[in-house]
Amino acid sequence: MGKATYTCGVCEMSVNMTCAKCGAELAHDSITKDDGTKVAVSKCPQGHGKIKSPMCCARDMTCSV
Ligand SMILES: [Zn+2]
Ligand SMILES: [Zn+2]
Repeated sequence: MGKATYTCGVCEMSVNMTCAKCGAELAHDSITKDDGTKVAVSKCPQGHGKIKSPMCCARDMTCSV
């Protein structure tokens, strides 16, 4: 699993995501919703949970991993 460093394709801002509970760098992952669409998420490697990928410039930020 790679680091979840997200980059905006429009303005090139990047962010590092870390778990609020343990401070670990979140791992990049994706989930499939009920309607079949895939959503990029970041999850804690220690199982503290996962969040949807951040957005910038009204677009989903992409993970370089
Ligand atoms: Zn942006
Ligand atoms: Zn954690």
